[in-house]
Amino acid sequence: MNICVVGTGYVGLVTGACFADLGNQVVCLDIDERKIGLLREGKLPIYEPGLDEVVQRNAQAGRLTFTTSYPEALQDAEVVFVAVGTPSGVDGEADLRHVREVAETIADVVEHEIIVINKSTVPVGTGDWVSEIMRKRCGDGVHFSVVSNPEFLREGSAVHDFMHPDRIVLGSEDRAAAQCVAHLYLPLRATVMVTDLRTAEMIKYASNAFLATRISFINEIAAICDELGADVKEVAFGMGCDRRIGHHFLQAGLGWGGSCFPKDVMALAHMAEIHGTHPQLLRAVMDINRAQRRRVVRWLRDALGTLDEKTIGVLGLSFKPNTDDVRESPSIEVIRMLQNEGAQIRACDPQGLETAAAILDHVAFCQSPYETAQGCHALVLATEWEDFRYLDWPRIRAAMQGRVLIDGRNFYDPETMAQAGFDYRPIGRGIRLNPQNPATI
Ligand code: NAD
Repeated sequence: MNICVVGTGYVGLVTGACFADLGNQVVCLDIDERKIGLLREGKLPIYEPGLDEVVQRNAQAGRLTFTTSYPEALQDAEVVFVAVGTPSGVDGEADLRHVREVAETIADVVEHEIIVINKSTVPVGTGDWVSEIMRKRCGDGVHFSVVSNPEFLREGSAVHDFMHPDRIVLGSEDRAAAQCVAHLYLPLRATVMVTDLRTAEMIKYASNAFLATRISFINEIAAICDELGADVKEVAFGMGCDRRIGHHFLQAGLGWGGSCFPKDVMALAHMAEIHGTHPQLLRAVMDINRAQRRRVVRWLRDALGTLDEKTIGVLGLSFKPNTDDVRESPSIEVIRMLQNEGAQIRACDPQGLETAAAILDHVAFCQSPYETAQGCHALVLATEWEDFRYLDWPRIRAAMQGRVLIDGRNFYDPETMAQAGFDYRPIGRGIRLNPQNPATI
């Protein structure tokens, strides 16, 4: 099939490359000339494991091309996937300006029958709104259908997730159009669920909100464990062995972040409020998440006496391992809170240095944990990259001025850290920092 994918970000580029890999003819379109320029030179504008290979293979085979021109991209397209950003607006609502622009431009340009498939995460009712925009602007006789096809891939394993989905959700008032899109996914042998537009849109928000809720739940349990001397890691394992609960998304830590959960939970709460329901649980889920960041900053302040002019090393900047994406990263939020209290920050990340440097000021970006540790009063493990798992801890300890180590992801073994001479505090494991005389730190 001839496919156009609008937006070549984490979702769009993976979608385009993977559909090309399944034998389709794909044109990826973006208004960002830099991104398209890089892609045409065979370079990826983002870091995503395994994606480079799929893009190269299909570009070389002539199945995958890149453009900034809508007329060129839509010329032969039978279906168009929309994968543009839907960031938070001022009130926490989803900002749909990019979706509107795309719908208007497609309507103005297309002259043949087309199926518009929305992959962006959009508020319930957006599909109807897109249909309305297109109905008003499309030329006479141009038949179009709108299908919602929310995306569930995770950054860091996006290619694998796209090729091995748990389910494909398709929502449309036009069953034939939904069937046509289902056909595209046939090679994946995945469960396909066809429903109406609004239900499909809601499935995406409900899924993300539920996953965020699980993390906030275990973080609340972690805070209670810390007070009562229980170990949340073992509690979570014991809970997860129950098949009704399972192990996923029960890791206590600095909380959830990234380009999806924060904006999607907020947008769902906003949707609920403007329609007169009171999303108490969603509000609590967000509050608990913010509290996780504040808790770690408080531990550091208490341990060091003050954060003013203290040097804190941060291991990890991306919102999770295996991505360069730092949008709404817990690490970035903690860094900003520490800086607000006068701390000097040193930080490293295997892939996120460039993206973090674009949004953070006054941070000494380092090439390794060893360089990061130089002269630090305390270290915080913020992102659990495998690169940080086995480090020469005596060397790190020797490079530091102080000995506090906060493990924001419960990544390390408390005994190993104590043996290496650290004053070590994980999250929710009943282990506290030793009160020290700040003057000696
Ligand atoms: P992104 O910011 O990485 O990419 C969006 C791209 O759209 C950018 O390259 C931008 O230049 C382009 N764009 C904006 N306006 C355009 C226009 N008018 N015409 C053409 N291109 C335009 O975003 P993303 O992370 O890929 O997310 C896209 C959507 O998918 C969002 O709604 C997001 O919530 C959803 N989603 C994201 C993920 C994820 O892990 N990133 C997972 C599932 C769903």
